[in-house]
Amino acid sequence: MLYAQVVLPLAQPSYTFAVDESLAIGVGDAVVVQFGSSRFYTGIVWSLSEERPDYPHIKSVLRKLYSFPLLNSEAMRLWEWVAEYYLCYVGEVMRVALPSLAKPSATTIAELDERSIEPPSETFVALVEELRSEEALAGYVAKHCRRAPRRTATMDLIASLALERGYADGFVPRRMVDADATALAALRSKGLIVTERRARERNISGSGAFLLPTLSESQSHALATIRDAHAEGRVALLHGVTGSGKTEIYIHLIAEELAAGRDVMLLVPEIVITSQLIERLERIFEGRTTTYHSRLTPLRRGETFLRLATSAGGELIVGVRSALFLPVNRAGLIIVDEEHDPSYKQSDPAPRYNARDCAVFMGKIYGARVVLGSATPSLESYVNALSGKYQYVELNERWGDALLPEIVVSDTLRAVKRGERRTHFNVELLNSISTSLADGKQAILFQNRRGYAPYIQCRTCGYSPRCPHCNVTLTQHNTSSRMECHYCGYSEPRRNVCPNCETQDMSPMGFGTERVEEEISRLFPEARVARLDGDTSSSESSFRRIVREFEMGETDILVGTQILGKGFDFGGVTTVGILNADNLLSTPDFRAAERAFQLMTQVAGRAGRREQRGRVVVQTSLPNHPVIREVALGDYRAMALVELREREAFGYPPYSHLIRLLLRHTDREQLARGATFVAGVMRQKFGSRVLGPVSAAVERFRGEYRSEILLKIESGASMQRARNMLRDVLRTAAENKEHKKLIINVDVDAW
Ligand code: ADP
Ligand code: ZN
Repeated sequence: MLYAQVVLPLAQPSYTFAVDESLAIGVGDAVVVQFGSSRFYTGIVWSLSEERPDYPHIKSVLRKLYSFPLLNSEAMRLWEWVAEYYLCYVGEVMRVALPSLAKPSATTIAELDERSIEPPSETFVALVEELRSEEALAGYVAKHCRRAPRRTATMDLIASLALERGYADGFVPRRMVDADATALAALRSKGLIVTERRARERNISGSGAFLLPTLSESQSHALATIRDAHAEGRVALLHGVTGSGKTEIYIHLIAEELAAGRDVMLLVPEIVITSQLIERLERIFEGRTTTYHSRLTPLRRGETFLRLATSAGGELIVGVRSALFLPVNRAGLIIVDEEHDPSYKQSDPAPRYNARDCAVFMGKIYGARVVLGSATPSLESYVNALSGKYQYVELNERWGDALLPEIVVSDTLRAVKRGERRTHFNVELLNSISTSLADGKQAILFQNRRGYAPYIQCRTCGYSPRCPHCNVTLTQHNTSSRMECHYCGYSEPRRNVCPNCETQDMSPMGFGTERVEEEISRLFPEARVARLDGDTSSSESSFRRIVREFEMGETDILVGTQILGKGFDFGGVTTVGILNADNLLSTPDFRAAERAFQLMTQVAGRAGRREQRGRVVVQTSLPNHPVIREVALGDYRAMALVELREREAFGYPPYSHLIRLLLRHTDREQLARGATFVAGVMRQKFGSRVLGPVSAAVERFRGEYRSEILLKIESGASMQRARNMLRDVLRTAAENKEHKKLIINVDVDAW
């Protein structure tokens, strides 16, 4: 008999189960076990031993799930490291890593039955053979459009299929086509399109001779520097201004690895946002790319996981942070694109990991090359580059003849005084938009708030509706006619009568993207305006439609939130407006300046990416704020040096590790007592490194009260030791009966 330590998808340590030798179970295998009297789980065998633990009742592993191990030893080491570093259980890593297999807690074994691991297939769509040539298509359009001068959905769909070049024999994956099932069925019955079920092709045996872009001189130089760094086993930080062609450099690195039969992991902040990038990659590495993100169905994600577990290598995985936990077998290269992006940090639930930092460790485990890329690197990475730990690689010109945009700081207070402000726009910005539109070009307007107004207020009594579960104001949404809590999602119908004084005098305060869209449409009645934010792009297809229409010049002005700052490559944009920079500068957070610089620079970077130089208008009442000046000059280095000096003086990251304890309780009094108790225990061990407790930024959330304790561990001190001491603290808190209902979430390297 053998004894297995089995990790279950629970916030608990592993458990021991007996293993019948006939099951031929090995480390890394997925198994079914019974846990408790009537629960069954999928677990992963973490280790095996012949020694029987000395307690009486040991349950047996019921069966093995797959004929192959689910996890290789490298993946296991990574999961373990994440659990150790972020102070959680491997079972919690399993929960994010295996979202599809992690629900396998079931009440019967039948429910847990083996998932089929058919090679994944999908539907492909193409125009019928006769329409595939340009002349035939033109003929069709001429014939049918004369009679229907209005654009129809059919014409749109046909045009988009005709435009999807680069796919073998004209067939485009169904998921890339923005049309519902009814529309497709109609076209098929009219004999205009054909559909086919095909295996997701994987041409792994191909020659590895990919068609690569020719690099410019500075790009080639950057590529060579990256290769040198890798030869020395060092991480490369590619700091390339927006539009410098970082992707082209990645493509060269990726091609080398794939040709050598090794796997590549390309992490991106958010998959829908990078659909442009993925299309570009699929065109070059057709059949090799696998995308991985939360909008895929659990089945698809499960299939991908299983397929990779048995893959022989040569895979390009493009995914969001959780892709990091896939069981890659032969990782040769890990790229973290836009490495500064906050989406890499998972804040809830555990593991509260930062995928960028995990990627660097993953590189060590696999002996893989690592590239971190950004136009605005995180200060953490920049410090590592300054100290020589990472190789700093700079690309400070745009590709081709494109110039970086001209950045104009537009003082809102002065504009008001001079009568040069229309609603929320300075005339300076409006003039720039007019010029762009007159030239047949486009404009982007950035406002970092969705909805119509962040709050509404009664002009008679001053009352503002708040969320009943959180202490924040409700945001007015006009499209849905509702008031929404942006923290917990609670919503209620919009009201015109004040619930407090019953006068009909509620008025919107401040402005979000909906209001910008409304006002700009009024100011430019001829312009076609679209909006890209969390409300309009909730589905992948609506997102793709908005982006494509803007890309093809069917819309003129695109209003949006921080989504706009995430790597889009739009050719026609010559004006970018940042509507309220003050907002970004005034967040009470030690990263505020860094974040503001990054967001503004990234959004600005969408302007003038082709021949015509772009213009960025930054509206602010703080024109002399250092960050505004640094953005205007495009001076990343100045921002970094000022910020780093400050962070060092106050002992903030990257000169320390910040561990945040979020304490939660349904009762305010008991929370206060619990927090004082925990902070006291911590002070005994950590002294003045402990700050707080203080009320959390959102003090009441979903009906719970919340407070925070911060722990600053200076660089150079042992994090290992700090973590162990903190574990003791948590144990003491858990064992104290008086604070039984106190919940503590630990966030290592908190944001
Ligand atoms: P970044 O990611 O650095 O902002 P991109 O990789 O999106 O920049 O490149 C900006 C634009 O320049 C893209 O349209 C890209 O196709 C083009 N480009 C950059 N380098 C090359 C190259 N070597 N050959 C062809 N096109 C390039
Ligand atoms: Zn709420």
